[in-house]
Amino acid sequence: MKKYDLAVIGGGFAGVAAALAAARGGAKVLIVEKSNCLGGAAVNCLVNPFMPFYTEIDGKRVDLSTGIFKEICDGLECRQALSKRSFLEEELKYILNEMVIEANIDLLFHAYIYAVEKNDKEISLIKVATKSGTMCIEANYFIDATGDAQLAYLAECPTVLGREPDHLCQPMTLCFRVGNVDVEKFYASRERLKIAHAQSLAAGELTNPRENILVFKTPIHNVLHFNTTRVVKKDPTSPEEVTEAEVLARQQVYEIYEFMKKHADGLEDSFLMMTAAEIGVRESRMIVGDYVLTEQDCRNCVKFEDAIAACNYDIDIHNPEGTGTSHYYFPAGEYYTIPYRALIPKRVSNMLVAGRCISSDHGAQASYRIMPVVCCIGEAAGTAIGLAVKNNSLVREVDVKELQNELKKNGAYIGI
Ligand SMILES: Cc1cc2nc3c(=O)[nH]c(=O)nc-3n(C[C@H](O)[C@H](O)[C@H](O)COP(=O)(O)OP(=O)(O)OC[C@H]3O[C@@H](n4cnc5c(N)ncnc54)[C@H](O)[C@@H]3O)c2cc1C
Repeated sequence: MKKYDLAVIGGGFAGVAAALAAARGGAKVLIVEKSNCLGGAAVNCLVNPFMPFYTEIDGKRVDLSTGIFKEICDGLECRQALSKRSFLEEELKYILNEMVIEANIDLLFHAYIYAVEKNDKEISLIKVATKSGTMCIEANYFIDATGDAQLAYLAECPTVLGREPDHLCQPMTLCFRVGNVDVEKFYASRERLKIAHAQSLAAGELTNPRENILVFKTPIHNVLHFNTTRVVKKDPTSPEEVTEAEVLARQQVYEIYEFMKKHADGLEDSFLMMTAAEIGVRESRMIVGDYVLTEQDCRNCVKFEDAIAACNYDIDIHNPEGTGTSHYYFPAGEYYTIPYRALIPKRVSNMLVAGRCISSDHGAQASYRIMPVVCCIGEAAGTAIGLAVKNNSLVREVDVKELQNELKKNGAYIGI
């Protein structure tokens, strides 16, 4: 296989945006992805809708996630695949494919990274498992956009799992869809369902500890989206525990669906349409990078000098131990920024991390992890590598002012 300027591991929002930004900056890029398509959690785990990514400043709406994220939204809109913030994931897969093809990016699907080789601080190649055995991929730079900081972990960069001090992560959730619903009737009976659910939960009749039934409308008029299973106290990086989580979550899907059919209207002719291909992982490993973004930084709305993205999504913590979800909402007009240093892992010189596994604590991750924001983080990582390729520099040597100017020139909002 040829040697690339950049290999991006993971084709979720962060990985795709990173690849696009680097390729548009002139780099020859490969995306390595273990599944069969681009989109990551949005498609593999049926995560939907985009959580809010705007605020109001001086009475005007200001979008905090723009750039490539906006291009993707425009693409969805053009294909009538975006309704408010809900989108059709099949269309998303297609749009991302087309964007990547247009940018001349190479793709390697069905390839799972399992090892790296390093010369001192430089990753020289990665190894992936494929149907035909193993394969080596060489590149001058790497971006870890696996969500789980998988590449950083394999490269022996320091990482942390979940919250301090017990390392529990936010719960995992298997999302599902119900079809042929009379949506109006369903929503009209929500209060009754809510009361029945609270009573059954209090009586210990439900295995799912989630405090309510979280449901969203979709762009398809008779289909509802449920993000409501909750598997707690399992390590998302342990193969055995993720397997247990998948089994438990599937039991919860049936439990909730049967419960709703008993206590809500509008489901008489419905059917369980689909569950996600994979259980959704909100939080797992995060790198310990050159800067660790903290919950306090977010609450203080810090504007870092090396800001590369902005966010005001609430600090949304689904209880890692059971029932309850806590929220800290940012005041209108306020937001924090994400520093470039939080993308730089320790002990390597030619790799960045993008997406939900950048360097942060549990509280900060609970806010910036949403799809619009990880997309912007990815764009920043890819733009930085584009500059590093051009200037033949290490990731720590990237001129941050040049990076910020490039991001702004390309339509990204970075918050300073
Ligand atoms: C249940 C749930 C509900 C959520 N709800 C919302 C919501 O409503 N709105 C919102 O905006 N956000 C939501 N989020 C958050 C958001 O979906 C994720 O944080 C975000 O999509 C992460 O993007 P990413 O690109 O960092 O990682 P991912 O989207 O996870 O992408 C990582 C990619 O890397 C690939 N990969 C992983 N390991 C390997 C490997 N070893 N080799 C090769 N490829 C690999 C994966 O297949 C995947 O495609 C939710 C998350 C979950 C789990």
